[in-house]
Amino acid sequence: MGTTPTDPQPANVPDAEKALRESEERYRRLVDVCPDAIFVNRENKIVFINNAGLKLFGATKPEQMLGTSPFDFTHPDYHALVRERLRRQLQLGEPVPLVEQKIYRLDGTLLTVEVAAAPVMYQGVMSVQAVLRDITERKRAEEQVRLLNMELEQRVRERTAELEAAIRDMEAFSYSVSHDLRAPLRAIAGFAQIIARRHRASLNEEGQRYVDNIVQAGERMNQLIDDLLAYSRLGRKAVGHHPVPLGAVLAQVAGDLSARAAEAGATMTLPENPPTVRGDMTLLRQIFTNLLVNALTYCRQGVPPRVAVTCERVAGPPGGTECPARHVVIRVADNGIGIAPEHHKTIFRMFQRLHSEDAFPGTGIGLAVVKKAVDLLGGRIGVESAVGTGSTFCVELPLGDE
Ligand code: ADP
Repeated sequence: MGTTPTDPQPANVPDAEKALRESEERYRRLVDVCPDAIFVNRENKIVFINNAGLKLFGATKPEQMLGTSPFDFTHPDYHALVRERLRRQLQLGEPVPLVEQKIYRLDGTLLTVEVAAAPVMYQGVMSVQAVLRDITERKRAEEQVRLLNMELEQRVRERTAELEAAIRDMEAFSYSVSHDLRAPLRAIAGFAQIIARRHRASLNEEGQRYVDNIVQAGERMNQLIDDLLAYSRLGRKAVGHHPVPLGAVLAQVAGDLSARAAEAGATMTLPENPPTVRGDMTLLRQIFTNLLVNALTYCRQGVPPRVAVTCERVAGPPGGTECPARHVVIRVADNGIGIAPEHHKTIFRMFQRLHSEDAFPGTGIGLAVVKKAVDLLGGRIGVESAVGTGSTFCVELPLGDE
């Protein structure tokens, strides 16, 4: 007759007892050295607590803790939670997941602990074994980080508001200075032109050169003031965000520049079926006028300018936050002198010019105006270019209702 696995062999009994004793000893040692507090709650009384548990509660001897109820040291806010956990453990036999709660030490100080607990049999009675870890310091540090972050965000908000106010002041200042400079400049330029026209004969060669210089400088200054006013006007007026047919804008701008294009021997092509964009007619005209003027200006000597405007409708990148969800990319490509990569970002800043006034006249404001207008419309702009082969300016704008 065979034996079932549960029938102990008489010869094995001492071995089994030894193994059990060894196992108990191993667990006792483990519990003794464990840095986390461990206690057993049997019928709502602590019947066992390890060294780390005594330390956690600030007790010096087990008697201070044995016989007390876990509810004695649990913060009242957590009583219901603890009761429910005990019910689930004892009645349903479920271990419950790690939770955070607050407890009091013997000296009355409050601790935040993480608690894990599981039902166990203890001296024949269903009990609960709990493991507690003091996370008060970690919580304090987390709270400090949270407060610091809030403070930082508040400071960033205040600084941003200050900067925005400073920018508005600067713009108002440059607007009024530019505006006020116009009248005296007109007088200077006007009188210089009169002298150049009517009294040229009475001037010697040197005088004629001087007066020509004054006229030229006046024209430049006038251009500069016009450009500065165009820039500062951008932020002063409410920006429209309504459907604008891009085709109409491009046709109008190309028409305005047709004489200039013909003079340069340029060919200009526009997109076949441009979409409607969401924006502001004035800003859109400004953007494409400046880009097309540049495409006609920065051309290579002896190479007739070829300017092509193309459009591509794009569904926004998944999760992309920086660019509009549905947008159109408009490319203004030329076959001109190109721009070295190190200037691809800087050219959109105010007064950034890559050439002398003699090589290509300009004020260095055109692309700053374009960038500001694109920003105001909620779009993006960038350039792809290589020196000697041409440049492509890419403007991303939100699509209008189509
Ligand atoms: P401006 O044309 O009055 O100098 P912009 O702000 O329009 O001012 O342009 C800044 C600089 O960027 C220009 O001086 C020129 O060096 C460069 N740039 C702009 N557009 C082009 C282009 N299509 N091809 C080559 N260089 C360009």
